[in-house]
Amino acid sequence: MSTFKITFAGGAQMPTGSNFLVEFGGKKILIDCGLVQGEKYSLPINSEPFTYDPKSIDALFVTHGHLDHVGRIPRLVRDGFRGTIISTEPTREMGELIMLDSMGVLGKEAANANVEMLYEEKDVFESVHLWTTTLEYEKPFTFKTEDEDAIITLHDAGHILGSAIIEIAYKGKKLAFTGDLGNTPSPLMRDTTLLHGIDYLVMESVYGDRNHKDKDKRVEILKEAVTTTIHKGGTVMIPAFSIERTQEILLAFNELVESGQIPPVPVYLDSPLGINITKIYKKYEHWFNENTEKIIKSGDDIFAFKGLIQTPSPEESKAINQDTRPKIIIAGSGMSNGGRIVHHEARLLPDPKNTIIIVGYQAANTLGRRIVDDEKEIYIHNQPVQIRARVINIHGFSAHKDSDHLVEFVSSTKDSLKKVIVVLGEPKSAYHLAQRIHEEYQVDVTVPEKGDVIELD
Ligand SMILES: [Zn+2]
Repeated sequence: MSTFKITFAGGAQMPTGSNFLVEFGGKKILIDCGLVQGEKYSLPINSEPFTYDPKSIDALFVTHGHLDHVGRIPRLVRDGFRGTIISTEPTREMGELIMLDSMGVLGKEAANANVEMLYEEKDVFESVHLWTTTLEYEKPFTFKTEDEDAIITLHDAGHILGSAIIEIAYKGKKLAFTGDLGNTPSPLMRDTTLLHGIDYLVMESVYGDRNHKDKDKRVEILKEAVTTTIHKGGTVMIPAFSIERTQEILLAFNELVESGQIPPVPVYLDSPLGINITKIYKKYEHWFNENTEKIIKSGDDIFAFKGLIQTPSPEESKAINQDTRPKIIIAGSGMSNGGRIVHHEARLLPDPKNTIIIVGYQAANTLGRRIVDDEKEIYIHNQPVQIRARVINIHGFSAHKDSDHLVEFVSSTKDSLKKVIVVLGEPKSAYHLAQRIHEEYQVDVTVPEKGDVIELD
């Protein structure tokens, strides 16, 4: 009998839709239950029945609060899951906001496709109700099975606030799921905790085939883009994920504005979710890295500066259109597949004096991907929009480790490793990383497909 049996229910050869079933000691747990995002047919994929019986699952462990890791939890609950949901405290708080927020996007998608909603608000509330256990990093949690107890430990993944690597120790073997791994060193988060003594590693590969060459220059590039656009009298648009990217951009502007490196122009944070997530970040300031904690202790509010205007209501958001001054607009969604940024893009992309700065991963088939791929014409709300604005892509703001750092991450536990399983990346990224890890450490590496089952001794 194998020690662990893993079913790759989602997130295999795909960067989103994280969902892994792990069976050991007569128990069934899930790692993440995320939404598939950005694929052409994401709604039908997300509406497919689970390949396992949700009623049979004992517990769900969540690595972090991103939609592609939590977005199908309410569907799981709707389909009968009544086990415990377990994560860090910030992940639980953000997970609730993200699930509620997704109702809007999913509702529109469902209406357009004329199909049933993935879940309803009551399923979100039931999910929150089941989310009863929060864990701290490095505090072992005893998980009862039908034979030996398993010890489950969360390690800091350094990806976003509260993000965790989940390590399961059972019958003398250790299995770890990385979730998403942070782009250490990060301006806000602590460094990714290095693993030791792991036998089986299930790891992400979003940037498995690319490096963030511009990381050291990211603030410099941001500063140049903003300054040039302001001098032309234009507007800078930044589509930003509400979690982490928005706060990192605010932190960068905080520094640039307060040190006089960019002219004092209005900076709109045009994202209700971004505003609410920033409040959670402020609440968990003591989870930040030492450097940021020092800045906060010196009395600086790191997410607030002269010129920052928050526009939570739709009326305030629409009023931005009347502001003809050079300005900066930070809005969601991060991949321009919905959200307020799309309205700004429709209006501002045709004008060459404006700039759009892409600061995050853009999944295939999203509007953001078309923009970074330099398409000259895109469709927004079924209307053609010419792209004459300057398009700048800064990889260095990514919240993910790049290819070199993913390979390096494996090093701390290379001596105990028996197998590495590469997930959460497009096939090209996943296979490229698998090849590199195999060559570097001579370890067995697999890239599973969706639905594959792997038994580990
Ligand atoms: Zn993530």
